[in-house]
Amino acid sequence: MTRRHLTLAFIVALAAVWGFLPDFSVTVLSYIGLYALVAAGLVMLTGVGGMTSFGQAAFVGTGAYATAWICTSPLVAGALGGISPALLPWLGLLFGIVVTFIIAWGLGAITLRLSGHYLPLCTIAWGLSFYFLFGNLEFLGGHTGVAGVPAIVVGGLSLASPRSLGVVIWGVLLLALWALHNLLDSREGRAIRALKTGRVMAESMGVDTGRYRIKVFVLAALMAALSGWLYAHMQRFINPTPFNLNIGIEYLFMAVVGGAGHLWGAVLGAALITLLKEQLQDVLPSLLGSSGNFEVIVFGLLMLVVLQRFADGLWPTLARLGGRFLKPVAPRPPGRVLALPEAALPARGRTVLEAKAVTKRFGGLVANDAVSLDVKAGEIHALIGPNGAGKSTFFNMISGVDDPTEGEVRLMDKAMTGKPSREFAALGLGRTFQHVRLLGQRRVIENVALGAHRRGRRGWIASMLRLDRAEEAALLAEARRQIERCGLAEFAEVPAGSLALGQQRVVEIARALAGHPAVLLLDEPAAGLRHLEKRALAMLLDQLRAEGLGILVVEHDMEFVMNLADRITVLEFGAVIARGTPAEVQADPKVLDAYLGGVDEPAPKAVVEQAA
Ligand code: ADP
Ligand code: MG
Repeated sequence: MTRRHLTLAFIVALAAVWGFLPDFSVTVLSYIGLYALVAAGLVMLTGVGGMTSFGQAAFVGTGAYATAWICTSPLVAGALGGISPALLPWLGLLFGIVVTFIIAWGLGAITLRLSGHYLPLCTIAWGLSFYFLFGNLEFLGGHTGVAGVPAIVVGGLSLASPRSLGVVIWGVLLLALWALHNLLDSREGRAIRALKTGRVMAESMGVDTGRYRIKVFVLAALMAALSGWLYAHMQRFINPTPFNLNIGIEYLFMAVVGGAGHLWGAVLGAALITLLKEQLQDVLPSLLGSSGNFEVIVFGLLMLVVLQRFADGLWPTLARLGGRFLKPVAPRPPGRVLALPEAALPARGRTVLEAKAVTKRFGGLVANDAVSLDVKAGEIHALIGPNGAGKSTFFNMISGVDDPTEGEVRLMDKAMTGKPSREFAALGLGRTFQHVRLLGQRRVIENVALGAHRRGRRGWIASMLRLDRAEEAALLAEARRQIERCGLAEFAEVPAGSLALGQQRVVEIARALAGHPAVLLLDEPAAGLRHLEKRALAMLLDQLRAEGLGILVVEHDMEFVMNLADRITVLEFGAVIARGTPAEVQADPKVLDAYLGGVDEPAPKAVVEQAA
């Protein structure tokens, strides 16, 4: 039995017993389905995308109020004249989607720029304001709400009973889970996951992080609105209470307790919290002898315990236990694999990257002082210098992570001033990071495939509907090719975080290569590698140079650099103190001074030996 079989068994079992369950159970299950829909949106937003929202209840309310208003307002009835009443809920759905889309996009555009604690705080703010808005708008019935919301009618069949509507709710939920699962298992899903590791890495892979953040936010909001639409037609009456901030916090509870990183965690969390709330609301008041929302206290304690013992929620633990009895799904062997687009490499010897008098000041500190340097296609250029010399700062300047205070960076003969790093990536720049930036929990092959992001075209909808399979197979094949080339074939299927740090650096190189770059920037690629691994890396770089790539490498291992580089530029205190071939640089007295006089860095052996 595989996981897929188990999921199917669950669906079949639910369908089989549905007709025989008592009404009460059907109602509870319907609620669980409604909540799980919102929580699944939060899994995408918070667990996968790394953006915390306490305000999802407001979007549930938007969906519910939109349809309630369309279905009951005399204004709408008057304007639409003789429209069939059976169509009104569908019109309400459309209206709710449009309104939620606009509101979420607008809110997202404003608030998602905020980082750290400001975003969650902001979601609390609009969560509160929506609640009061619903309660104070006269045409939405104020605090009394809207009564007389009709049942949904599908093909002449009225879904008035919870038993029939519950089928729709679970149908919608399961379809949504399927679509989200597909999305996460695609090129776009990798990009969404990359958001959590920080914008710098994702942007360097060519991902427009601002846009992706807004899209995930809108997606989660739309799922909440869909839940609200179903809710309104199930209750047939709405008021502001179920859309207040408390409930918004409960949705987050569900996602976190169930497991915010996993779609089924949303279902588990929704089920647990709903059932628990049901029980507690009965038991606690009689136990304590007075009425009140005591369950909130228990939830708080529960949250503490779960987060203490199961930091990733309950689902991963459950899945691990169940995994012992389940067969892993064997990856399907790819059929004929499409070729990915491959830009031709520039002619050997052409200048591909050029920094002209790049200066960077941090307040009074001059981290880069008029540094000029160029990289040609088919050469390895090394940038060396003691700690704090400004090498990483310079890397940031020439990869679009940060802008120079003065000076100019040109990539492929284009001025890059003010351009974000994804445009550097688009022009053929691939890079690695001094401090490894991988998705540690994802497999090596997924990490490397992220590097090929720009070479795919398929969007969110195509991914959700599995229309991207041919392209996805091509991306994964490319990732596998680069992994093999970098000597990591045996690790392709293990989580990247389980590798030694040196190997993780090599994974970063494979990821950069998957983008088919013309220029490769490597920040200390040999750090943490053993002798043989260094030799293998040197051979790989040699081969890449032979293929015509322009490579700029920052490296501390002098033996490695001196044997490999065609040209070397030496930085000290932000300024270039020497440049030339390895032999010229090693003979330069200024270089010897910089290294022997430096306190931060042991004198590089090769330099001392050459000088002696
Ligand atoms: P290297 O990579 O050569 O070791 P860095 O480029 O990291 O050196 O740092 C160069 C200098 O710039 C250091 O003195 C460092 O403290 C300073 N520096 C780097 N980044 C910043 C920053 N964001 N704000 C202020 N100072 C910085
Ligand atoms: Mg550095």
